[in-house]
Amino acid sequence: MQNTHLIRFSRRGFAALFLVLVAAPFVLTRAASAADPLKVVCTLPDLADITRVIGGDRVEVSTLYKGKENTHALTGKPSHLVALSRADVFVQIGLSLESGFVPGLLENCRNAKIAPGKPGFVNVSEGFRALDVPTALTRKDGDIHPQGNPHMNLDPRAGMHMARVIHDHLVEVDPGSKAGYDERFALYSKKLEEASVRWTALGKDWKAKRIVVYHKEYNYLADAYGLVIQGSIESKPGIPPTPNHIAGLVETMKQEPGAPILTALWSNNDTVSEIARATGARIVELPNMCGGLTGAESWIGMMDLIHERLTGGFKPQGDAR
Ligand SMILES: [Zn+2]
Repeated sequence: MQNTHLIRFSRRGFAALFLVLVAAPFVLTRAASAADPLKVVCTLPDLADITRVIGGDRVEVSTLYKGKENTHALTGKPSHLVALSRADVFVQIGLSLESGFVPGLLENCRNAKIAPGKPGFVNVSEGFRALDVPTALTRKDGDIHPQGNPHMNLDPRAGMHMARVIHDHLVEVDPGSKAGYDERFALYSKKLEEASVRWTALGKDWKAKRIVVYHKEYNYLADAYGLVIQGSIESKPGIPPTPNHIAGLVETMKQEPGAPILTALWSNNDTVSEIARATGARIVELPNMCGGLTGAESWIGMMDLIHERLTGGFKPQGDAR
């Protein structure tokens, strides 16, 4: 009885040992290569958020910038090069937003999978109707973008476009997982539609309301609701204001008061407080990308925050928000 038991045990033990030593490495290798998530590197946290939502467990996403930066002052770092050299997919805004550092990184990372034109290279602004496309190109007008205003991630209408472009590229790179990408895209589309209803309700009375901006980051938002940009604190995009320009803007704002000043974390500086003091204008600090402010972790959350804060900014002065 005891012997039989021993024999049985050792047979079972041998089977287990066989599995561990011989069969398991095969099984593990096959499983790992089939289920390995795609390594996706995004320039901005907005793109990382949407890629995570559409990619689900099929993607491992990292972002080059975290959310508090001036998007025009971004530079490439050695760590970015390492990330790009290992990436299966690279996602950028485009419209020359990243043209100061991305071309150099792409050239030096020696990764054919994410070269422009390859399925692994994703430019989310592709096919998007850009605003402020210049008719003449001259650096005299400041930080000019030849393809138009690059801040399309701040357009409340852009979510579906960005999600679709990311979805299509993920399917092209990883066609075996198409069903999952389709399902998550459909779910996200529904969430975007629901969010759009919220935003339209908040912005329904914004038509022809005046705003003052620091930088031309909120032009798409203004365009979406018919807001009028009374003035920019930067006299030319990317160039700090001159005392003359500030004096002129203060004069305009005093003549027609009431417009809130829209700033981002990077631009909410002493000049803004000075102008607010001189004119009595309200400062509304908005995110300019995901991750910079609490509540703006996701793209939909960021848009919610922008709409809520702007609603507060339009309340008569003295009203508690
Ligand atoms: Zn800009």
